[in-house]
Amino acid sequence: MSASSRTFDYLVIGGGSGGIASARRAAALGARVALVEAGRLGGTCVNVGCVPKKVMFNAGGLAHALEDARAYGFSVQVQGFDWLQLKRGRDAYVARLNDIYAQNLEKSGVQVLHGRARFDGARGVLVGNERLSAPHTLIAVGGRPRLPAIPGAELGLISDDVFHLEQQPERLLIAGAGYVAVELGGVFAALGTQVTVAYREASLLRHFDAMLGDGLCEELVRQGIRLEPYSAGTRLERVAGKLRLERQLGEPLTGFDAVLWAIGRVPSTAALGLESLGIVLSETGHVPVDELQNSAVPGVYAVGDVTGRYELTPVAIAAGRRLAERLFGGQPEARVDYFDIPTVVFSHPPIGTVGLSEAEARLQYGDAVKTYQARFTNMYYALTEHKPKTSIKLVTVGPEERVVGLHVIGLGADELLQGFAVALRMGATKRDFDRTMAIHPTAAEEIVTLK
Ligand SMILES: Cc1cc2nc3c(=O)[nH]c(=O)nc-3n(C[C@H](O)[C@H](O)[C@H](O)COP(=O)(O)OP(=O)(O)OC[C@H]3O[C@@H](n4cnc5c(N)ncnc54)[C@H](O)[C@@H]3O)c2cc1C
Repeated sequence: MSASSRTFDYLVIGGGSGGIASARRAAALGARVALVEAGRLGGTCVNVGCVPKKVMFNAGGLAHALEDARAYGFSVQVQGFDWLQLKRGRDAYVARLNDIYAQNLEKSGVQVLHGRARFDGARGVLVGNERLSAPHTLIAVGGRPRLPAIPGAELGLISDDVFHLEQQPERLLIAGAGYVAVELGGVFAALGTQVTVAYREASLLRHFDAMLGDGLCEELVRQGIRLEPYSAGTRLERVAGKLRLERQLGEPLTGFDAVLWAIGRVPSTAALGLESLGIVLSETGHVPVDELQNSAVPGVYAVGDVTGRYELTPVAIAAGRRLAERLFGGQPEARVDYFDIPTVVFSHPPIGTVGLSEAEARLQYGDAVKTYQARFTNMYYALTEHKPKTSIKLVTVGPEERVVGLHVIGLGADELLQGFAVALRMGATKRDFDRTMAIHPTAAEEIVTLK
């Protein structure tokens, strides 16, 4: 059967953060746009990432707050916690967002096609029995969680599965040291699961300033999470109904109801037919692009996680919009600046970080680097028995002490960072921070009163 065909100005493959943003911006600029999505609209962030994760983060925060309330005089008796109720509420919220995305695409005039797209050489893109072609095609297919290449890996869960669990595991092993591992570990522990986090190296969050990983380890242990460094898994098996992870060093880790692999993500490029176009993927399977999101093939672009740079929703959205403005909005230079990108780890306590870590700054600027640090107890804990610490590090460079990095772990770090990221972007110096009036009493004021 021969394929029917349609032609558009812009063809977007992937209806996640980057694809939707780019498609809508292009349509607003007058382009005839088609967007192809194989799964649910909204992609990773809406369905199995930022959004349901943040709902879980909030649930974890409430569990902690219920404990803390006693120190403030409340006679709180937690009667129980209903995992399924939380799941149903979360699912309904995500379903509402799916609908909103569909409505917004329709309002924008973007033609949405449901199906899996595959490149068919220079002739265009195949979706089922239909061939679509356009002078401009965007690859925004994102990625999926990686499984380790060890026997029994399939017995473990990936982060997508966490949002489908109908029952809360009593004992959970999380393999991984990145943000997904620590975020989900913190949530499960707060909600009453016994959590073990196992990772290959000595520390957590190794890509961030060392102060953050160290501070987080301390706090996770205080919350009763067992940490198992130097734990490269070699085999996962079910023994007497429980999961058991053998590792290169040390005794096996045993007795788990569930094991979650949080060891990174792989781009969804394997079955896209990119070879038929002549696009050579990187060793990690990502689509190589230049700073304008151009792939090696004229008229084919990529944004978001599939490019392997800063795998964050706002980055995918910004890259998608800038690209549409460049292609259809008469802005030939429109592009994203891939530096000073702020990010938050929604661990308990949260982490906010922007710019260079101290180690990165020292590598780049040597002795010109000067840091300022503070460690204190947030006043929220004035009455509680436990006194988790907030840690702050400001990294500056040169005689003018330009601020090139800010790293915070502690209550409120997630909400306080955005404004400071603006200051960094504007080239603020330590003196600018010093001259800014403090807001008292807050944790954020410590950032403008560092000595
Ligand atoms: C657990 C978790 C928590 C996260 N938390 C945060 C957070 O707090 N903040 C943050 O900024 N980022 C977070 N992220 C990262 C964020 O979700 C991603 O960076 C973002 O979704 C990337 O957008 P994207 O458009 O590149 O890809 P995606 O959102 O993954 O969208 C890609 C879409 O393409 C579709 N697709 C794939 N192949 C095809 C095909 N052949 N044909 C048609 N469609 C196809 C997929 O179904 C998918 O819908 C989190 C990720 C995870 C996994």
